[in-house]
Amino acid sequence: MKSNQSNIKIAKKYLDKNMCIGVPTETVYGLAANAYSDTAVKKIFKIKKRPKSNPLIVHYPNIKNLNKDCYINNHFLKLHKKFCPGPITFVLKLKKNSMISKLVTNNKKTLAVRFPRHPIIKNLLKIIDYPLAAPSANISTKVSAVEAKDVKDDFGKKINYVLDGGKSRIGLESTIIDVTNAPKVLRLGGLEISRIEKVIGKKLKRIINPKKKNSPGQSRLHYSPGIPLRTNVKSPKRNEAYLVLKKNKKRKLNYFYLSKKNNLKEAGKNLYSLLRIIKKKGYKSIAVEKIPNIGIGQSINDRLKRASKF
Ligand code: AMP
Ligand code: MG
Repeated sequence: MKSNQSNIKIAKKYLDKNMCIGVPTETVYGLAANAYSDTAVKKIFKIKKRPKSNPLIVHYPNIKNLNKDCYINNHFLKLHKKFCPGPITFVLKLKKNSMISKLVTNNKKTLAVRFPRHPIIKNLLKIIDYPLAAPSANISTKVSAVEAKDVKDDFGKKINYVLDGGKSRIGLESTIIDVTNAPKVLRLGGLEISRIEKVIGKKLKRIINPKKKNSPGQSRLHYSPGIPLRTNVKSPKRNEAYLVLKKNKKRKLNYFYLSKKNNLKEAGKNLYSLLRIIKKKGYKSIAVEKIPNIGIGQSINDRLKRASKF
């Protein structure tokens, strides 16, 4: 059942006690806790089994609150005006007197921040007096959660509460842009780079190569369904699950469709849930049809490439 205002108040009670809860966002579900509290943030890393070196994204309701923790600049303001609230994360310089727990950033001098659009987390952020550190609500290196039940599947009794906001509308993590200097792309995601480049007025440098450590979470294995996955496959093996972009007439039991028509946004929304369904059905491997490398297709291919490093 979808959450309402009284569920949001219960969520606040858990958060005020430095506990972690599951929260819906338009990108993927987050495992949220008070970003100002060491005790709360420690729990996120522990529950997710996330390496301490991989910093968290912090969620704010508005620029006024962000101002307490980070220096803002013109590139940030321009992109914020156009795309926020929405699926874009900014890396900004932290203020010396910021109250953000040092564990969030692994002692870095920068902070990744986002303004989520989903009404449930928006309303929650309005009634608490701290920002929320919230990485994706899944076990580290595995497929992100896009529904409340995915969060429960992954964490079971390790967390006390999950707000249910239905299926995430975008289904892929946010696009990360470092705006501490000339804007750079650190992670492909739910917002197309071409739209960001239009606002900035030039092509952006992409630092999404896992060898470079600018965005520590961009490790080789990530988003893994837990079974081998191969990409650009024309014909699957008999016992393999086959993930294809659009529904076609050749309906076979082992075929799974990312979209009804050739829609890349719809494919992005369905990617993680289909990977989870395929695993649950007991398939031992996944073959994926070639996905056009345009728009959100670039983000889908990025995730598939990392998921294939099994
Ligand atoms: P997740 O919360 O799981 O979607 O991952 C958050 C990602 O944001 C991390 O894996 C990093 O790649 C990136 N990130 C967080 N903080 C920073 C930062 N200060 N500088 C660069 N990248 C960051
Ligand atoms: Mg993640």
